[in-house]
Order: sequence, then structure tokens, then C-alpha cells
Amino acid sequence: MDLYEYQGKQLFKRFGIPVSEGRVATTPAEARAAAEEIGGPVVVKAQVLTGGRGKAGGIKLADDPVDAEEKAKQILGLDIRGHVVRTLWIESAADIEKEYYLSITFDRGVKKALLMFTTQGGVEIEEVAENDPDALVRLHVDPLEGFQPWQARRLIYGAGVEDPSEQKQIASIVEKLYKAFVEFDAMLCEINPLIVTPDGEVKALDSKFTVDDNALFRHPDISEMRDTAAADPLEAFAREKGVTYVKLDGDVGICGNGAGLSMSTVDVVAHVGGKPANFCDLGGGGNAQGVVDALEVITHDPQVKSIFFNVFGGITRGDEVARGILEALDRLDMSEYPIVVRLDGTNAEEGRKILAEAGKPNIYPEATMLDGAKRAVELAAAR
Ligand code: GDP
Ligand code: MN
Repeated sequence: MDLYEYQGKQLFKRFGIPVSEGRVATTPAEARAAAEEIGGPVVVKAQVLTGGRGKAGGIKLADDPVDAEEKAKQILGLDIRGHVVRTLWIESAADIEKEYYLSITFDRGVKKALLMFTTQGGVEIEEVAENDPDALVRLHVDPLEGFQPWQARRLIYGAGVEDPSEQKQIASIVEKLYKAFVEFDAMLCEINPLIVTPDGEVKALDSKFTVDDNALFRHPDISEMRDTAAADPLEAFAREKGVTYVKLDGDVGICGNGAGLSMSTVDVVAHVGGKPANFCDLGGGGNAQGVVDALEVITHDPQVKSIFFNVFGGITRGDEVARGILEALDRLDMSEYPIVVRLDGTNAEEGRKILAEAGKPNIYPEATMLDGAKRAVELAAAR
């Protein structure tokens, strides 16, 4: 889950990483009021889940509250690479003397967190890595040893920061950022730029914070930060139901068990000339309730014309899936949907028998994945 800049800064603040004072605003009038409260010149910053906002015109300095209102008008509604600006962060403007860069990511190759630091901040870090790789200091943190103070010193001296006061402030920020990274199960914590003001104060001017979705259950406060309005409503509904679901553009609803089989099902439907409406994975458990939830999500998509169930039972049992399908037919109004069912593996025969005995006119059993896909595509085309 990606956090907005202002949300990331809230977390920075909790850990004692210096940030500027600011307020959220969603209208030009609110921006003006925020600027009045903050006092002095402010920066009006688009809150969108993409970088490079500055270059796209999403970040503007404002001298006074009236100017802030004007700048807010210009930025609200702006489309930054497909992200429409609905929220602004109004922040006390900082004077910038130097722009540095600091980040922590996950280096999966070596199974360690990776610290990166350079005094050439403010620009895309990929650019620094390409044009001046020596300027970018990289250092791994062993998860068992944890962060060690010498590592911060190594970053600072390696990048050539000479001012002792800067050194001290940066070392403290690195340590706090690492704490935040571990504490919040982050996958990325990035400060670009980390600035030095003319008074010699070091602070985070921007924030990029990504939390591992799989750890969100441990962080209900962060879960709540999710901007459900910005997400696809159907995907938000799926998340609520705990269904692994990705909306696609076609009309054949797909439901498999396991990511691999579900993806193959998407491919096979496309292979026989159909258009998958979604990717949906029942997962390993695949109990009856899971099937009902998945069907509820799939049928929320108005584009869906037929549904293809492709289940290979392992831990998932065919009889359980069959019961789930029948339960869904009872509970949801699904009579308009032809449902093609291919069951194989554990208890498949039992499952097929349960479906046959139920005698539902809109259930179409098929023996193979290919035949099932063909049938589902035909049935979608016929509607
Ligand atoms: P990004 O473009 O999405 O990475 O957004 P940033 O928050 O990094 O801002 C982009 C640039 O705007 C920064 O590199 C600064 O040059 C400028 N900027 C942002 N905040 C301030 C500020 O408080 N004062 C000044 N002078 N410039 C700022
Ligand atoms: Mn930035």
C-alpha cells in the first residue's frame, strides 16, 4: 500500500524525523485557510500516488493565503499521469540550500534492507545511479544484527558530507528512518529531497512510503489511511470481501484456485478468442463461503456475461466448491449468468455429482480447461 506524501510525513513525525508544518486541503478555500493558519509563504503540493509531481506542475510556491488559493485552483483537478489531484498538502515553505537523497528499500536478492544515500538529491535517483554511480552510497542492513550506528557514518562519509552538524542530523534521521521501516513493515521509505536549509537544518521535504500489504493486519491505523475513493470501486469491494481480484476489460468472468491456475485460465480464455473480465483467485482454502464471496465480486462487474469456474482440487475440495456455487445461486440473483464449471483433482467427482443432482439450468459442466474456456466464450457471445 502506497501512502500519500502527507501520510508518510505523519509517520516520519511520529519517529522524530523533522518535517515542515502542514495541513490537508481539498478545496481552494481550505488551501487559503490552511495558508493563513500556517503563516508566511507556503508550498501547495498535489497529493497523488505517483512521483515527479514537481515537473508535472503539481507543486507550486505561494507567497500568501490569496496566492495559495489561486495555486490550489490550478493544481486541483490536474491529471498527473492518470492520477487526478483531489487532495492538497499545504506546507510551510522551506528555503533550500542543498538537496540530498535517502532511502531504504528491500533487496530481495540478498534478503536485506538496502540503505541508499547521495548528496545529489532532488532529481530522479535512477539518473544519479546512471550518470554518477559513485555518488550513490549503498549499504545493506543485516536483519539479525539490525541497524548499527557505523552504517549511518559510512553513508555520510561515503557521500562526502563534511559539515559536522549535518552529519549528526543525518545520522539521526537514518536511524529513525530505519526504525520506521521495520516498525511499519515498509517496503520503501524514501526522502527525496532531504534538504539542508540555509540555517543548517536538515529535514524531509518529500516522502514516499510503501507498506507491505501482507502486514497491514498488524497496522490497522495505516490500513485506515487507504484512499478508497482513489481505488477502483470493484477492487475495493473485493478487498473488503478478502477476494484476490483484478478487474480486466472483457466479458468472461473467471474464477480459479491458485494464482497460477487463475492466470492460465485468463490466458486460455484469451487463446480461444474470448476476453477475460477479471482475474480471480479462490486461493488454497476455497471453502464454500470463499466461492460465494468470489461470485459476489465477479457479478458486481456489469460487463460480465458468463462465468468460468476452473478448479483443480488439492487442498481445495471439489465438493466444497460445488456447494459454494449452489449456495451462491441461492443467495445471489445469478439466474442470468451461464456458469461453466470444470472440476478436477480432490473430490472432483463428488463435486460434479452435487452439481448434476441440483439440476440448475445455468450450470454447464465441462471436462477440460480448454473445453470450459470455449464454452464460456460461446455463452458470453450468445448473450
Ligand atoms: P516530487 O516532484 O513529486 O518528487 O515532489 P517533491 O516534494 O520532491 O518536490 C519537488 C521539488 O519542489 C523539490 O525538489 C523542491 O525543489 C521543490 N519544493 C518542494 N517543497 C519546497 C519548499 O518548501 N521550498 C522550496 N523552495 N521548494 C520546494
Ligand atoms: Mn520528491
